[in-house]
Amino acid sequence: MNEILRRHSFSITFLIVLIGFFFLSGNDDDDIQQLSGFTMGTSYQFQLVDMPSDLTPEEISADVNELLMQLDTGIFSTFASSSELSRFNQHSANVPFIASTSLIEVLELAQEISIETRGAFDITVGPLVNLWGFGPVIWPVDADVPADAAIEAALNRVGFRHLQIDAARSLLVKTADITIDLSGIAKGYAVDRIAVYFDSLGVQNYFLEIGGELKMKGVKPGNESWVPAIEAPLDTAPQIYEIIYSRGETIAVAGSGDYRNYFEQDGMRYSHEIDPRTGRPVTHNLAAAYVIDQSAARADALATAYMILGVEEASEIAERNRQAAYFIYRDTNAEFGDSLSGDFRKYLSTVP
Ligand code: ADP
Ligand code: MG
Repeated sequence: MNEILRRHSFSITFLIVLIGFFFLSGNDDDDIQQLSGFTMGTSYQFQLVDMPSDLTPEEISADVNELLMQLDTGIFSTFASSSELSRFNQHSANVPFIASTSLIEVLELAQEISIETRGAFDITVGPLVNLWGFGPVIWPVDADVPADAAIEAALNRVGFRHLQIDAARSLLVKTADITIDLSGIAKGYAVDRIAVYFDSLGVQNYFLEIGGELKMKGVKPGNESWVPAIEAPLDTAPQIYEIIYSRGETIAVAGSGDYRNYFEQDGMRYSHEIDPRTGRPVTHNLAAAYVIDQSAARADALATAYMILGVEEASEIAERNRQAAYFIYRDTNAEFGDSLSGDFRKYLSTVP
């Protein structure tokens, strides 16, 4: 029997339950300026506690929209065929490509994280994601697990080391027929860029979210901590599992999980996290990984990488790099266990 149960639902990034918003209802709405909309195939919500006086809300909203459009359809989108990344993906191998500062910046960070995570994070993984039916190329529902030969063929078109970056001359070269997908890092990067924009306006307190990638600065009205919640890794209605307290620090939070996007076949659970090193979905027991960092782009990419590495290797790397990371895994009784790096602990407490 090859009955396949597929769950394509909201990804976890939608589901870091933003109870910061929830608690706000008790406050005077005038204290908060909200901006929301859609970008990068998902939604965004920005909350500003103190509005700069020299710009109208309409002017700020226009600036924000323009920046997001520029980053999405202008640079990172793989759906917009005219975006810079789409043009680079269509560009021939071994021919230099002149790239924007933003694209170079993201690609350099992605490469850094690939090395740091021993190849688990790899922006060239696209052919494998598609082969396993988790990409934009829809997989027939009655399809089988891909044949070894197909996996081998896809693996030949994967490998972050086939991308060379010459930042000084703003040049990119691919040394093999690779394609790049930045969906594991671009949302986080966009959050960082929006933060830079609000910082430049002198905004001291904000909560930013694009598709579940978060960055917060300062406090909520009433001098309270922002309190994003971690949800239990279940594909049922969201339930709060843990609460993070930023306590005035500027932090980014990102999560990645396998519990809303997977399929089962012959009793095996295939997660949408494909290990670029083996070409196969990971089979370990890690259900979700959360990362806190100064940079939302780093947090975004590391959360995905940790999901691929599994709790043991991810914990080891996080401890060594003093990275704040939190892991929720399935234990033998089909219940959850969790573990965290030393640097995450302080954010789970109301007191410093
Ligand atoms: P979300 O998109 O909800 O943030 P993740 O953080 O788990 O979810 O990121 C998943 C996305 O990252 C996938 O849709 C895919 O495009 C990309 N991806 C999958 N595997 C990898 C990988 N090994 N390295 C880099 N990006 C990956
Ligand atoms: Mg992510």
